[in-house]
Amino acid sequence: MCTGATTSAADRSHSASFFGNHLFQLEVKRSASTHFVSCFFGPAQLHHRAITLTQDEIRTALSHTDLEQMWQRDLRPLLVTRYPGSAGSQAVQEHIKTALGSLGAGWDVAEDTFVSQTPYGPLPFTNLIATLNPSAKRRLVLACHYDSKYYPPQWHGREFQGATDSAVPCAMMLELARSLDEELKAHKNFSSNLTLQLLFFDGEEALFQWTAADSLYGSRHLAQKMEATAHPLGATDTNQLHGIDLFVLLDLIGAADPRFGNQFPSTTPWLSRLQSIEKRLHSMNQLVEHPNSVQYFWPNHHVGHVMDDHIPFLNRGVRVLHLIPSPFPSVWHTFDDNEQNLDRSTIQNLNKILQVFVLEYLSARPAVPSDPQSAP
Ligand SMILES: [Zn+2]
Repeated sequence: MCTGATTSAADRSHSASFFGNHLFQLEVKRSASTHFVSCFFGPAQLHHRAITLTQDEIRTALSHTDLEQMWQRDLRPLLVTRYPGSAGSQAVQEHIKTALGSLGAGWDVAEDTFVSQTPYGPLPFTNLIATLNPSAKRRLVLACHYDSKYYPPQWHGREFQGATDSAVPCAMMLELARSLDEELKAHKNFSSNLTLQLLFFDGEEALFQWTAADSLYGSRHLAQKMEATAHPLGATDTNQLHGIDLFVLLDLIGAADPRFGNQFPSTTPWLSRLQSIEKRLHSMNQLVEHPNSVQYFWPNHHVGHVMDDHIPFLNRGVRVLHLIPSPFPSVWHTFDDNEQNLDRSTIQNLNKILQVFVLEYLSARPAVPSDPQSAP
């Protein structure tokens, strides 16, 4: 039965963070128009059950992840000025395409290029859409933005790296694809129904000042385009947004002690699963500088909505898991959001948790060697 309901709330408010011991004020705006349409998803999507990997499977799965390799191979090339239309943006796009193109899983990488009016005149934007198996009906989506915030020429001489915002999330997604290449390749060959999609958005940042028109350029364009694109191919009543099981947005990740609270009750079970993975990896001594069994994921702590790339998708009924720390990193939108202020242990731990989450969601069991102790 379809029990659609639409609520509208446009209350711009300030909501104190539930976390931390300092009074960080997080400016939030409730989604201007959030549609709850429970008939939107098929039963398979609403009742999807993830598997739970064994400890041997987890050890095998995580044996290929390598923080140093991620750092050199994928993070450093992203730590450049990369606002829309810049030379750095072009270089980052090329890097993402090359990195995914070099993998054995055979990613389909598409570009969504358009020109939009901005406070500085028309600018070109390009979203990158990487899909493991484009013909699969359902998708688990991981998303980040690769553009960096634009600082006008008076800041000349200081480069805004946007390390947590959002070079690290993009590098984490590339590292996931690289380290799970074998598992994802096998999954692609054996599962035709569910797949993984990686979205790299351009133009998340306001170019001048955050407004509905000056922000979220890439995600607004892509959400609209996906809504207008039939899926599966030839379908008459379903589009690409209907194919999204869950839209996981990673943002502002890379500083020490992130705490991810709960913004959306509809996806609480998936935030709880991230917490369960954190606990399991902790008990297996897989996490470094992680003294407590739970430090990152807090499904019982409700936090205010934050304007970000998920909004155009949320407003069209897509289910969202927004992995953004509350409070934001202290370096947010300062020139200190750079490589020196990243916390390697946190990034390594989150890489592992995210990789297990994706495999369990996709039911992609790694092939454990007959003698697990000899795993590479
Ligand atoms: Zn930002």
